[in-house]
Amino acid sequence: MLILGNTLALWSLVAAAVLGPTVAVLIAMRDRNRLLARLGNLEDVLRRMRASDAGSNFDDRPEETSLQLSRERLVLTNLLDRFPEVTQKFVNIENVETLGRNILSAFERILDCEHGVAFVLEDGRLRLIAQSGFQDSEAYPDMRIALGAGRLGYAAAKCLILRPDDFATLDDSTHEGIEKTRVFSTDFDFYVPMVHRGRPVGCVAVGGMKKVVQKAHSVSMALANLGALVALNIQRAAEIRKLSETDPLTSLSNRRHFYAQLDVRLRSRATAPFAVFLFDIDHFKRINDEHGHAVGDGVLVHVADRTREFVHEAEGEFACRFGGEEFLCVLNCEDLPSLGARLESFRESICSTVLDPGTGADPIQVRVSGGVSFCPAERDDADSLVRLADDRLYVAKESGRNRLCLESSPREVTR
Ligand code: GH3
Ligand code: MG
Ligand code: MG
Repeated sequence: MLILGNTLALWSLVAAAVLGPTVAVLIAMRDRNRLLARLGNLEDVLRRMRASDAGSNFDDRPEETSLQLSRERLVLTNLLDRFPEVTQKFVNIENVETLGRNILSAFERILDCEHGVAFVLEDGRLRLIAQSGFQDSEAYPDMRIALGAGRLGYAAAKCLILRPDDFATLDDSTHEGIEKTRVFSTDFDFYVPMVHRGRPVGCVAVGGMKKVVQKAHSVSMALANLGALVALNIQRAAEIRKLSETDPLTSLSNRRHFYAQLDVRLRSRATAPFAVFLFDIDHFKRINDEHGHAVGDGVLVHVADRTREFVHEAEGEFACRFGGEEFLCVLNCEDLPSLGARLESFRESICSTVLDPGTGADPIQVRVSGGVSFCPAERDDADSLVRLADDRLYVAKESGRNRLCLESSPREVTR
């Protein structure tokens, strides 16, 4: 009995030793493939959204070559074999700052390094998303580096993993240029680009390595490339969210996003009084008929730009293109006379601008009519506030256009 028990215990130990890492590797591979699949899906959605915004057809996404994939998988398996717990931390990350912290702590764990920085590529520049192991006085919040500038920018631009000695072997002028634009006073032991499909996505630099790690190059690259996948997923998701909230012609918010913002404002307990302002371009159809649809579009963009300037976003105000040639704003309203004066000067500024249609035809004078409702004085839900503003817009149109209506006539109050 005792012998049987011992044998069973021994076998379970052997099974755990063999199966444990295998299962961990399989799980991590599955997570990595999920990240790839998610990226593929997000890229598809993004391409379709961009194509429909630009009015063009959807173009097919170039596929990853199987050679690239199998090489990447091999390196990744190597990483997972040795550090299976690492990839688990990469699956459900929602912002690049958390990703940066996770990458640096994985590097600390694997390479036993003391300090590091992580950057992602945004609008052609590398932005610092995390740093570790520096003194407080060496914090670089929101640091940006041009792709190619300094050692870190060079490693990212060239998609090369580099050690300090490697820079000295570059041809003289490149080496000098890099040294001149050094960004950090500290040296790093490793400059590791985050790469996806041969393109830079970001860069990690780590220093103060306390021990020599076998295959440090390939392990670092696998880790950084895993980070690249996550970073791309985060960036694509954010871009899709932005596109789904934006009117493609004017780049103002669309109606859906406006209602979401209004909902937040109405739910917040400390809501200060505000006004809902709906306005509409007068006889816009005539502009289209006389000058063509493209000129009409230009007028919409012009009015949207003036609206963006008019709304104080930093103070919680917001606007959207409500539909065709109608715009909707939420404006702070401490007192009625000052809001009335502000709205009147906005209306006047629009009608005092004369637009050249660029076709040799007469200049276009844009005029608008608008209606306003007040929260909480008159209504306290989104639909009723917009409906009341629309009733007053109708009154402004009926009483001759090119004007605003801020107060109710007996007819509307009963509606
Ligand atoms: P009113 O003063 O009563 O508001 O008259 P209006 O001509 O401005 O209003 P109406 O509703 O008769 O016409 C609105 C026009 O706006 C009709 C539609 O073709 C045009 N429109 C809607 N969306 C767009 C757009 O994105 N671009 C252009 N160029 N025209 C648009
Ligand atoms: Mg109109
Ligand atoms: Mg209209």
